[in-house]
Amino acid sequence: MRRLGRAARLLTLGAALGAVASCAVPSALAPGYRGSVGLPHAGFLDGAKDLPKESPGLRWRSAADFHFGVPRLVDALQDAAAAVAKQRPTGVPMFVGEISAKTGGRLPKHHSHRTGRDVDVMFFMTTLDGAPLAGAEFVKFGPDGLGVDASGRFVRFDVEREWLFVRSLLTNERIHLQWIFIATPLEALLVEHAIARGEPAEMVAMAEKVMLQPGDSLPHDDHTHVRVACEAEERVRGCIDNGPQWAWLPRIPRVEAPTSEIVEAITAPIRALPPAKPAGVAALP
Ligand SMILES: [Zn+2]
Repeated sequence: MRRLGRAARLLTLGAALGAVASCAVPSALAPGYRGSVGLPHAGFLDGAKDLPKESPGLRWRSAADFHFGVPRLVDALQDAAAAVAKQRPTGVPMFVGEISAKTGGRLPKHHSHRTGRDVDVMFFMTTLDGAPLAGAEFVKFGPDGLGVDASGRFVRFDVEREWLFVRSLLTNERIHLQWIFIATPLEALLVEHAIARGEPAEMVAMAEKVMLQPGDSLPHDDHTHVRVACEAEERVRGCIDNGPQWAWLPRIPRVEAPTSEIVEAITAPIRALPPAKPAGVAALP
C-alpha cells in the first residue's frame, strides 16, 4: 500500500470521498474518514461537540448561529472564557459567534468554518471610562482601539480582557493553536500590553506568530477568528492543514504530503455540497 501509484490513490480517494460527499457525513462506504475532515474551507465534520448556550463567562452571540466544533476547541473556548471571568470578574461574558454546523460543510457568509476547527469570537469592549460592555455585536475598532457601536456611542477595545483570552489559548497545549486572525493594529495593542504585563518572551513570540491579519479575507477588525490545527490522529482520518507546522504542534508521522490533485479530489465534491440551513431562530439580544 505504501507504494500505491498516484492514479490509484486518486481513484481510491475520489471514490471514497464521492461516496462521503453524497451524504455529507462518513458512511459505511468511507468509514475511515472521521472527525474533522478536509480543509477549513472545504470539509465536513462528525463527532462534533455543541458549545453550551451559556457557561461561566461565556454566551452564544446568537441562537441563530451554528456552535458545533471539534471537542478540544469547544472545551478551550469554555476554559478561556472562564479564565477571563475569573481574572477579571466583570459579570459581562465573552460572546461566541459561529463555529460550524453539526456535520460541517458550507455555512452561509463564511469561507471556512466547515470542519469544526474555526470559530468567531466577539471582541471584549468597554465604555470610554472602562466599564465593561456586552460585546454581542460586531464593532470595528481602529488602530487607536476605539470603535462606534450600533447605537452610535464610542467604545473601547478591552485590551486587558482580550489578552487574557488570547493568553488562555496560547497556554492550552491540547488545542494545537494554528491562527488567531485579527487586524494588525489590534494585534499590536495586544502584544504591547503583553510585554507591559511582563509576559514571558516565548509567549509573546508565540502570540506574534499566531496572530495574523489574513490577506485573503476581511481585516478582522470587528471580531477575532481562531483556528486550530489537525491532531496527528485526525490527519490519518482525513484532516488537512494548510497552515504552518509550528513548533508547538504535534509531530506528525512522516507521511507524503498530499498533492494538489489529491487535495482537489478530496475537496471538490465537498465544495459542491449545499450550504447548511440557517437555524431560523431569532437572535439573542
Ligand atoms: Zn470566521
